[in-house]
Amino acid sequence: MNEDVAQQARLADVALPVPLPRALTYLIPPKLSDAVRPGCRVLCTLGARRIVGVVVAVRESVNVLPKGAKPLLSVIEGISLPDDLVVFLSRLASYYLAPIGEVIRLALPPADKDAAEAIEELSLFPSAKGISSRKVRWVVPTDAVETSVTAGASRILAHVRAHGALPLARLSAQFGGARGAVKKLRELGLVAIEEREIVRDPFFASAVARDTELAPTVPQQTAMNALAEALVPTSGAATFLLHGVTGSGKTEVYLRAIARAKELGRGTIMLVPEIALTPQLVSRFRARFGDAVGILHSGLTPRERFDMWMRLRAGEVDVAIGARSALFAPVHALGLVIVDEEHDSSFKQEEGVRYHARDMAILRAHMLGGVCVLGSATPSLETEHLSRTGKATKLVLPDRARAQEMPRVEIVDLRRIGAGPTGDRKISVLLHRAIEETLEKKEQTILFLNRRGFAPSIRCEGCGELASCPHCTVALTLHKKKGGTMRCHWCDYEASLPLTCKTCSSDRIALEGLGTEKLEETLNAAFPKAIIARLDRDVATGKDVDKVLARVRSREVDILVGTQMVTKGHDLPFVTLVGVINADAALSIPDFRASERAFQLLVQVAGRAGRGDTPGRVLVQTYDPDHHAIKFASRHDVNGFIERELRDRKELAYPPFSRMALARVDSLDEKEAQDATAMLARAARQASRAGELGAVTVLGPTPAPIAKVRNRFRFRVMLRSSSRESLRAAAMAMYAASTELPRSVRLTLDIDPVGLL
Ligand code: ADP
Ligand code: ZN
Ligand code: ZN
Repeated sequence: MNEDVAQQARLADVALPVPLPRALTYLIPPKLSDAVRPGCRVLCTLGARRIVGVVVAVRESVNVLPKGAKPLLSVIEGISLPDDLVVFLSRLASYYLAPIGEVIRLALPPADKDAAEAIEELSLFPSAKGISSRKVRWVVPTDAVETSVTAGASRILAHVRAHGALPLARLSAQFGGARGAVKKLRELGLVAIEEREIVRDPFFASAVARDTELAPTVPQQTAMNALAEALVPTSGAATFLLHGVTGSGKTEVYLRAIARAKELGRGTIMLVPEIALTPQLVSRFRARFGDAVGILHSGLTPRERFDMWMRLRAGEVDVAIGARSALFAPVHALGLVIVDEEHDSSFKQEEGVRYHARDMAILRAHMLGGVCVLGSATPSLETEHLSRTGKATKLVLPDRARAQEMPRVEIVDLRRIGAGPTGDRKISVLLHRAIEETLEKKEQTILFLNRRGFAPSIRCEGCGELASCPHCTVALTLHKKKGGTMRCHWCDYEASLPLTCKTCSSDRIALEGLGTEKLEETLNAAFPKAIIARLDRDVATGKDVDKVLARVRSREVDILVGTQMVTKGHDLPFVTLVGVINADAALSIPDFRASERAFQLLVQVAGRAGRGDTPGRVLVQTYDPDHHAIKFASRHDVNGFIERELRDRKELAYPPFSRMALARVDSLDEKEAQDATAMLARAARQASRAGELGAVTVLGPTPAPIAKVRNRFRFRVMLRSSSRESLRAAAMAMYAASTELPRSVRLTLDIDPVGLL
C-alpha cells in the first residue's frame, strides 16, 4: 500500500470479545465508509478467526498505518450502541483497568440463541437476527377534543385517557364491543393505533391505578425546585445528594424530577439496590408514568430484555429503572441519573468488571451535562465527602413526609438482660415482651437477623472442633430443611449432619448460634397463634419476595423474620416493632467500613417502624452497647455519626480521604499464589518509588481474610494513596507485571474496592 492511500485511510478501533486490555485497530474499506460508526458491530479477522466486535472509535490515519492493520470485513446491521454510551464505556474501562471487550458486553442486549449456535462469537456479541418481531396493537389517546360519541365509546375513551396507552386486547377483555368502539374513536381522531413490541413482564402483570402528584412538603418543594432548575440543559452537569430521613418522601422528589426531565425531552435512568426487593417502588413509578417505564430486572426472559433494550434505544421508552446494570441502558437523550439508597453495597459489582454503579452514575451524567441525584437516609461517607468538598449539592428532607414521629430506639444490653421464656439469650426477655404486646395490639413486628440457616456453627463438644468446609476456610451452617444438611455459604458443598465427630468419635455434636430458620421455629413455638413469615435467600428469590411482602402488607402476617432483605426501603404501615437480634454481627467484620455498614443497617431497619399512624418502637440487642455506630443509630443521629466516622477515617487516611486498589490473587497451589502476590507487590513498590506525585502505601502480600475458597488459596496486595494518579500508576504496574504470571494463577484487580473479604 503506498503512502497516499495510507494517508487517506480511515481507521476503526474495535472492542473484541477477548481479554485484551485495548481495542484493536482495523482499516475501514471505502465501501464501508458510511456504515462504520462508533457503536456499530463489525465482522473482522483475528489471526485465523473471524470475530464480531463493536467499534469504539473512528479516526483518520495520521501519515502511517498501524503495523499489520487489517480491513474490516462487514458491518452487522441490527443492534448498535449510542455514541455517548460507547464513550462512557471506554472511560469506564480505562478507569477500572478492565478489558474493553468485557466492558462493552455490559451494555449489549442479551444473546440471541440461534445466532449464538451458528457462530461462537455471536454468543458474546449477540445478533438481532433470528429474534422475530412480535407486535401488538395499542390504543393511544390523542389531544383531540371529543365530539359526541356513544356511551360505550365514551367510557373506553375515558379509561384510555386515565391510563395512558393500553393494548387493544386488554380493552376488549374489559369492555364489550371495544373493537368497534375503538374503530369509531380512531375515525374521529380521538385515539391512534400503534404497533408495539410486546412486553411480557411480571411487573406489568397487574394493572396499576394512576395516581396524581402529592402536594409537596416545604423541604420536598425546595429539593424539587433545585433539581428542576439543574435539569434545564443549559444549566450544565450537576450532582446532588438527597439526604432524607426514612419516610421523608424521597420517591416523590424522584418522580417530580423525572416528570420535569420528560417535559424537557430528557430521559432518565434510575438505579435501585435490588429490583426484586422494591416491587412497591416500581408500582409507584407505573402509577405515575403508566407503562412508559422500562423495568430491567433479572426476572425478564432474554426476549423481554431484548425488546426493552430496543424500545429504550429507539426512544419509545425514556425511563429505565433497574439494579446496577441499568446504568448501561441505551436511554435516548439521557439527562437524569438517579441512584436510590446510594449507600447500598449492591451497587458495586463484585465479579467480572468490578465497577461501582454509584461512582459511574456520576460520571455518566457528567459526560452528558446531565443531573445525577444520589438519595439516601444514610449517605455513604464518599457521597457526604463529595458534598463537603463542593462536588455535590446537598438537599435535605429532615422530617417524615406525613409528620410521623421517628421510632423510639431502645438498646438492649445482652450482657445484663437475660433470656425470655424461650430460653434463647438472643430472644431477650425485653424483646419477648415487646413482641407479645405488639401481637396483642394486632400490630406487626419485623425481626432482623443477619444469619440465614438454622445454626451458624456446628461444634464437637468432645474435642472442640468446628465443622468446616473441606474446600474453603469457612464454618459450615446447618440448614434444617431436608432432614438437616451442613452447607458452605461460599461454595456448593453440602453434607449431612454427622452422628459422631470424625476426629474424636464423640457423639456430643452441639449446634451453636441462631439463624433465621431457627428463629422462625423458636417463635412459632413461643407464639403459636401468630402467623410468622421469613424473608431470606433460602425462601425467597425474585417474585416470591413480592408475595411475602404482599402478605405483610395485607396484615396476614404478624411477624416477619429475615436477613438484610427486610431492611430495604419497604413502606409497611402496620409495622410498629422492629427488633435487631444481634447488632454486633455487622461490626465484627474485618473491614474499615464495618461501622458505617452497621450504622446504615440499623438506621434503615429502624426506619421500617412506625411509618403508619401509630408510633414505632425499635429494640437493638447488643453485647457492645457503647459502640458509636449503635449509639448514634439509636438517636437517629446520622450527621453525628458521619462527623465522628469521617474524623476516624481522616486520622487513618482511609477512604474517602484516600483511594484504594486491591489485587487479589488465587491459585490451587498455596506457594504459587503467595509468590505471585509477592511479585506484584514488588512491582507496585517499585512504581510508587519511581513516581513523584505522592506516596502509595503497599500492604502485602497477605493471606485474604478467607484464606481458601473452592480449594484456591487467596492472597492479596492492598494499595492506598491520597493521590489518584500515583495509585493508578502503581495499579498499572501490577497489571503490567501480571503478564508474567503462570496461567494457573488468577489475578483480579479491584479499583476502589468495597467488600474486602
Ligand atoms: P422514603 O423513600 O424517603 O423513605 P417514601 O418516598 O417511601 O419515603 O415516602 C414515605 C411515605 O410518605 C409514603 O407513604 C408516601 O406516599 C408519603 N408521602 C411522601 N410525600 C408526601 C407528601 N408530600 N404528602 C403526603 N404524603 C407523602
Ligand atoms: Zn470431636
Ligand atoms: Zn466451601
